[in-house]
Amino acid sequence: MSFEILDRDLAGRIGKLETRRGVVETPLLLPVVNPSLQPVSPEEMRRDFGCQAIIANAYLLKKSHEKEVLSRGVHDFLGFDGTVVTDSGGYQILVYGDVDASPEEIVRFQEEIGTDVAVILDIPTGWNARRERAEYTVDETLRRAKAALTMLKSKNLLWVGPVQGGNHLDLVSRSAAEIGRMSFDIYALGSPTQVMERYLFDVLMDMIVAAKTNLPVEKPFHLFGAGHPFMLSFAVATGCDIFDSAAYAIYARRGKYMTDHGTISLKDLRYFPCQCKVCAEHTPQELSETPSKEKERLLAWHNLGVCFAEVRRIKQAISDGRLWELLELRARGHPSLLQALKRLGDYSNYLEAGTPISKGKGLLYLGSQGLARPEVARYRDKIRSWTPPSEADVLVLLPQPSSKPFHRSREYRRVFSLLSKKLGRSVDRIHICFYAAPYGLIPLELDETYPLSQFEVALPLDAETMDYVAERVEDYLRSRGGYGAVVFQPDPILGGKVEDACKRAVGPEKLITPSREKIWSVKAVKDLVDRVDTAFKTLRGTY
Ligand SMILES: [Zn+2]
Repeated sequence: MSFEILDRDLAGRIGKLETRRGVVETPLLLPVVNPSLQPVSPEEMRRDFGCQAIIANAYLLKKSHEKEVLSRGVHDFLGFDGTVVTDSGGYQILVYGDVDASPEEIVRFQEEIGTDVAVILDIPTGWNARRERAEYTVDETLRRAKAALTMLKSKNLLWVGPVQGGNHLDLVSRSAAEIGRMSFDIYALGSPTQVMERYLFDVLMDMIVAAKTNLPVEKPFHLFGAGHPFMLSFAVATGCDIFDSAAYAIYARRGKYMTDHGTISLKDLRYFPCQCKVCAEHTPQELSETPSKEKERLLAWHNLGVCFAEVRRIKQAISDGRLWELLELRARGHPSLLQALKRLGDYSNYLEAGTPISKGKGLLYLGSQGLARPEVARYRDKIRSWTPPSEADVLVLLPQPSSKPFHRSREYRRVFSLLSKKLGRSVDRIHICFYAAPYGLIPLELDETYPLSQFEVALPLDAETMDYVAERVEDYLRSRGGYGAVVFQPDPILGGKVEDACKRAVGPEKLITPSREKIWSVKAVKDLVDRVDTAFKTLRGTY
């Protein structure tokens, strides 16, 4: 098996997974196909949506169509020539308590019907399982995984090893670490369906990260039962590569219309916010009045289109380095997603590891949730270990000029040219830094490194962002005690809070604040330069 990663952002990635029926691209959405209840045929999925792979339930196939599937093979039986994944029936155990097939029978059946990707029969933990039960499901799944690996015959079939543990995160970690040592081709998070049905997306983030950080990174990761478009970006951003969706069909049966930011009852719609074939050719009222089987089929077709479109949007966001921006957009669709976004703040380092150091596009800072994004966290670490020039006596702290990179702005050039005139060669002993949201303090020497001159910020800033900037400035000044004086130029956006932070860090006696003339005016710049000159000469006098 080969899984090649082509592009990444946050912990999300675009990859190519080789299966024996061809190469599929991840993030990959597998529509769940149920042969006895199928509103959109696999053939249509292929033709209309370019669907590369589908998933069916091996247990249900065995129970209802065993002979036929065995004789025709699963591809022919389902009418699909792309990659076929089969799930084992673990979900049925969760819902009905047990299934009437042994783990060995399910493994063998999947091999015999010629499936391309197969799952061992695991025991899902389920939501809210008590610890003892959760421990049992983890241990029993591991035991079954080990046993399954000893009996495999088919060589090029990809096997999925499920991680259990439910919301007991330590068990999820242990389960992942142990199954990660076994030679599965793909790993999966079992039993998050109920967590998702309850919209506990913050808990889901915890579960995914607990599993992923204990599994081999180079292997694909499947999140079972996550087929709703509005949360897919969150699953991808935390490192899930494969999804299966039955929701498109289940929702259609219930008269529910999917959008990329939530689900609406068809009866509540007066206008369709979509231009697909179904939505373009019908009004909501016409669709409501269509006979129920046909209505279900049309709704399922639209729903599926929305799911595939969201997967493409996510891929484009990864390729643009704008996956975080997509999360922020989706987080506006539902409070539970905003909660999930906030939870990602706990995982900055994890997300940072997958994020490229430099991207083609700058970042869009929309508010304090963005403080958790990897670029901001990465810069925080970078500046902590950065050493300022050793000969610097006076720190001049300027607000953000009107253009980037800061050192090429006309404001900076004016300050620097006046300073050089005044101080001559001693200008080398002046260290110039900027303060700007969301990063905090930016030394002149670093202002061209990504993304310090590629970002846009929404003004006015929120209180958390201002506090963060002030905190970063204070942190820098406290850890770099070498300056003899700090000349601080206030600005109307951040001035007050950052000035207080400077005062706390270096003490009022070392802090010099120019008069509050209109910022960057000729008078203000002259006043600033005079004060730097005085501060420098006073320091010189004391040497
Ligand atoms: Zn539509």
